Amino acid sequence: MSRIAFVNGRYVPLREAAVHIDDRGYQFADAVYEVCEVREGRIVDERRHLQRLARSLGELSIPSPVSPRALGFVLRETVRQNRVRDGLLYLQVTRGVARREHAFPPVGTRPGLVVTARARDRAKAERVAEAGIAVITVADNRWERVDIKTTALVANVLARQAAREAGAGEAWFIDDAGFVTEGAASNAWIVSREGVLVTRPAERGILRGITRTVVCELAAASGLKIEERPFRVSEALAAREAFITAATQIVMPVVKIDGTPIADGKPGPLSRSLRARFHEAAEIGD
Ligand code: PLP
Repeated sequence: MSRIAFVNGRYVPLREAAVHIDDRGYQFADAVYEVCEVREGRIVDERRHLQRLARSLGELSIPSPVSPRALGFVLRETVRQNRVRDGLLYLQVTRGVARREHAFPPVGTRPGLVVTARARDRAKAERVAEAGIAVITVADNRWERVDIKTTALVANVLARQAAREAGAGEAWFIDDAGFVTEGAASNAWIVSREGVLVTRPAERGILRGITRTVVCELAAASGLKIEERPFRVSEALAAREAFITAATQIVMPVVKIDGTPIADGKPGPLSRSLRARFHEAAEIGD
């Protein structure tokens, strides 16, 4: 079965799916995106993802390409047409097509909208989580507005590639003061020596991950102590546990940082339990 993409109003086979070379997403990364988990054919945390999309669009003054209702329909239809049971849903909105000039195009330029969906092997992801992943650390050399989910991801691409070349699953960015900001495509967490969940506040320096928000809610509802504060690599190395969160990873245990094992080098109990219980707290669509 050929995969189907939604491209600017039409559902087309993936091999025919194309955008104009003057699309500002292509020219300037003048675009925002979202990635949602699809589980048993249903979209996870759609409301929160669309809320964040609206915020990202607002921060960049990109108009919405379609109404929220129509977007919800397109998302579900893309999942359906691709027969995705477990997988990922991707959507991108660009400022549209216009003659290449840095300043915004004329008012009325239609924003671009692309939606794709693909299946993923859930059992394989569970096997990765059973073993946990290694992370490496890299200097955070991104622009300051990482709170906006833009497609300007080349620094993230280089970080993730460095991780891959080092045999690790993720790279953690480190800010100028030596604190962990977040992963190349995930938020970073530790369980401190005192058993407290620690993650960086989402006000500055990181993207406010939807998975992060849901894990915060799940932890609070379970009576776990959370501190939203920056932490250093040295604290992470001395921690009981570490993990990352993202819609693509759910809660993924981290067992090694820059080659040094954390605790006994195995996924910790809290990370495992938050992973197992994540979907109790997530919003699962129809
Ligand atoms: N931080 C960055 C830089 C990301 O790219 C992502 C997801 O791709 C996240 C954090 C996690 O966000 P979410 O939980 O919404 O997937």
